[in-house]
Amino acid sequence: MSATTNSDAPAAPVDATANTSKVVTRFAPSPTGFLHLGGARTALFNLLYARHHGGTFRLRIEDTDRARSTEPAIQAILNGMRWLGLDWDGEEVYQFSRADRHAAIAHQMVEHGHAYRCYMTQGEIDAMRAEAQAAKKPLRIRSPWRDRDDGPADQPFVVRLKAPTEGATTIHDQVQGEVTVQNAELDDMVLLRSDGTPTYMLAVVVDDHDMGVTHIIRGDDHLNNAFRQLPIYRAMDAIAKETGGDRWPDPIYAHIPLIHGSDGAKLSKRHGAVGIEAYRDALGILPEALDNYLLRLGWGHGDDEIIARDDAIRWFDLSGVGKSPSRFDLKKLENLNGHYIRAADDARLAGLVADKLGQAEDDPRRTKLETAMPALKPRAANINELADGAAFLFASRPLGIDEAAAPLLGGDAPALLARLHSALDAVHNWDTETTEAAVRQVAEEAGVKLGQVAQPLRVALTGRKTSPGIFDVLVLLGREESLARIADQTTGQPSGPRA
Ligand code: GLU
Repeated sequence: MSATTNSDAPAAPVDATANTSKVVTRFAPSPTGFLHLGGARTALFNLLYARHHGGTFRLRIEDTDRARSTEPAIQAILNGMRWLGLDWDGEEVYQFSRADRHAAIAHQMVEHGHAYRCYMTQGEIDAMRAEAQAAKKPLRIRSPWRDRDDGPADQPFVVRLKAPTEGATTIHDQVQGEVTVQNAELDDMVLLRSDGTPTYMLAVVVDDHDMGVTHIIRGDDHLNNAFRQLPIYRAMDAIAKETGGDRWPDPIYAHIPLIHGSDGAKLSKRHGAVGIEAYRDALGILPEALDNYLLRLGWGHGDDEIIARDDAIRWFDLSGVGKSPSRFDLKKLENLNGHYIRAADDARLAGLVADKLGQAEDDPRRTKLETAMPALKPRAANINELADGAAFLFASRPLGIDEAAAPLLGGDAPALLARLHSALDAVHNWDTETTEAAVRQVAEEAGVKLGQVAQPLRVALTGRKTSPGIFDVLVLLGREESLARIADQTTGQPSGPRA
């Protein structure tokens, strides 16, 4: 199908529904894989649009494909959405459970002449396909049964839509602008299979209608589907007008460009993690950071980069969604994550780090982590780095020393550490000010810069070249442990390897 986009056309008409009736959006994932970045962003846009307009955001699990839909995938989607705070309204709808309703609609369409029973055999379809191939044309089924109702009662049939064959269908897409497809390019698609089960295309439309969905915001890989789905709305609306039934207005469409990888190709496994859970578990990303990142991926509000959920709801609109695909950039996500880590509550971060380190709920080390968090969090871009930075708190003696840090314990270091040990041993009021005064005095008396004593001290206390501020480290470890770790490096004993 070739859709023509008229980019010179005026912007899509003003979103009338938003002002006159309640906005209902939905996210409709197929549970054939985990929640991926693109899906999460689609869900987020739908949620923000609904919240912005005081409307409703629904979730529908499109589990009609029985062979490919799995329970673990459903759970991963629900958990991923909860984790990202993509809270949907009401109960989620399971598409498969509504198959009878979908079939009833197809029958109603047959009854009113908008669909028909097609008795073409597989052989006839294959012949039509071969003919199309020979003529180098796309296959468009033209069923001889379209205008006949004398089909054999005992033969299997499918129900096909009596699609318009003339004219064109134009969609005023809120992102893509005006898009037109010639109706001659569409064929009479199947609505019900010969076993009576509904096709996906029919199910989507019936569910969207029954759920009261006013705005369909989804990936632009579904743009072509809109041209197949609209005729079903129109047929049903014609029936409604005839019978005085419930109307089937066209929904408002917004097809958002897909996310691409940094190389410009459509985002796929090849680019690394695409499932949401990997960002949480393997990469240590906070949900609010991922939300903010996904929001900025394809939507903008001036130069704002850090956008909290409340502001996102206040500002979100479809006119801010760009038409070209956005590229995923892990560095940017990590920058945002660093920001949200610094802003996050210390107890929450301590909990996340403790979980990562496998500490039990009642482990007393959690309190220590929480106390250390203000010193740890300015340096971390993700929860893994936070956990890694906290490792020195729980290390056992003698400390393993990083290979890169070991040289800092050579030369004058043992002598300086011995002087530091006796100076600090005399400190009893163990806080950052008094320990700092003692360390400075040692540097002064030794005639060296503060850094020259601070570096070996850091390595002795943490085993590393980088750590939180050295006086914070002293306080976090406490007097006894600090003195013991310093003493370990003054005796000339070789340090144990890092665990
Ligand atoms: N179930 C479709 C998908 O996961 C989405 C259908 C729609 O949004 O209309 O790609």
